[in-house]
Amino acid sequence: MYDVISPHAHEFIDQGEVAATIAEADRLARDTGAIDAILAKAAEKKGLSHREASSLLACEDPETRQKIRDMAAKIKEDFYGRRIVMFAPLYLSNYCVNSCLYCPYHVKNREMPRKKLTQEEIAAETIALQDMGHKRLAIEAGEDPKNNPLEYILESIGTIYNVKHKNGSIRRVNVNIAATTVENYRRLHDAKIGTYILFQETYNPQSYGVLHPAGPKHDYAWHTEAMDRAMQGGIDDVGLGALFGLDSYRQEFTSLLMHAEHLESAMGVGPHTISMPRVKRASDINPDDFDNGIDDETFAHICACIRLAVPYTGMIISTRESEAVREKMLACGISQISGASRTSVGGYTAPREESEDSSQFDVSDRRSLDEVVDWLMGLGYIPSFCTACYREGRTGDRFMSLCKTGKIQDCCQPNALLTLKEYLEDYATPATREHGARLIEEELGRVPSDRVRDIARKRLAMIGEGKRDFRF
Ligand code: SAM
Repeated sequence: MYDVISPHAHEFIDQGEVAATIAEADRLARDTGAIDAILAKAAEKKGLSHREASSLLACEDPETRQKIRDMAAKIKEDFYGRRIVMFAPLYLSNYCVNSCLYCPYHVKNREMPRKKLTQEEIAAETIALQDMGHKRLAIEAGEDPKNNPLEYILESIGTIYNVKHKNGSIRRVNVNIAATTVENYRRLHDAKIGTYILFQETYNPQSYGVLHPAGPKHDYAWHTEAMDRAMQGGIDDVGLGALFGLDSYRQEFTSLLMHAEHLESAMGVGPHTISMPRVKRASDINPDDFDNGIDDETFAHICACIRLAVPYTGMIISTRESEAVREKMLACGISQISGASRTSVGGYTAPREESEDSSQFDVSDRRSLDEVVDWLMGLGYIPSFCTACYREGRTGDRFMSLCKTGKIQDCCQPNALLTLKEYLEDYATPATREHGARLIEEELGRVPSDRVRDIARKRLAMIGEGKRDFRF
């Protein structure tokens, strides 16, 4: 048996266990009784082990796959309602000392103009994001101890939180920077970050070594054990992800769930989010150079199986994917999406054509935030700009236990409506505002408690009169 609470990556992502899981999954996927039993367990909404979920992933029968998707949609709705949390990335610096073969920031890429934002530029980008209506950001930077030291990241977080422009404010800053020390994670925690996000890229140690031939990121154990250190540093909410396309998706899937199980067992709480990125075209990067690309159907199936395995974990899809793919993924359990993203450094203030050659990857969904919000509402979702949980101290195991008991719904539904109302009042086009007003009225009727509904109604009226930032 592999050691789920070992602090060593090679033990908690034991390659023997990954291979045994996949072999067993191949066998069980053909055993209707076994699959029905796993589906019955998934319907209890308490999650699945990596072995059980990997067996569902191996099912090829279209009817079973459809059942999995339907159940994923239902589980998402039972825990998260029809809310979809909105965010945007903010790229601070593309200086990088690593050599990742899939990433245009790699140190040898001379085609990529290098840029690092000054604090004044960060304030200007933050204002541009606030003026779209964003309240939640994920900051991104390459790894470069000289150009992007932790002090720079901390100062940038302070700048972002301090910008108050018109009715705008950034209320949660998530951070996606390279693996670092417990002490540095403590400093990020003290700077009041939301989620610390770090994609594993690939969980296969051999491929990891080949794909990261040089630089600090070459160290598989240092990278894979980063979330343990982040949690030791006091960060409650961590976000996992594998970059699909680099290695076999079945191995990544199994390992990703083993990583989640490890965090739950060793640190007392599983990942807050799991992101679903696929390798995309970028400067000096051709996704066809990687042999493990997955089609949209497989991608959606992976998403649905993850949703069944970790019902309470947020799942994220970015603008790497097109409108059509995002729609498909939303129906398989996604709970957060980015909107109107620019993946270049300074991209929110520079004209698009000027900044695109420094993009981290090509954005497929290029719609404005207003278009994305209106589209989501048209699909029956409630775009939410809520950041209340983290600001009310509902993080880590506190958040998870509220989520597991379903109590989170009492806060989330009204908070989503309040923040959507703020968005509609301050940033939406007239057509979106009208669409949203109808949706809010309908949804108010679905708030479970009479008392909360009455308070929410009063607060919505106050937002209409210019008051802001209510939260349950
Ligand atoms: N420097 C940080 C690190 O070392 O993890 C992370 C910042 S990087 C800006 C964010 C993520 O973008 C990476 O973790 C990687 O998964 C993803 N990425 C890199 N190149 C990509 C590509 N060509 N297509 C899609 N995603 C890519």
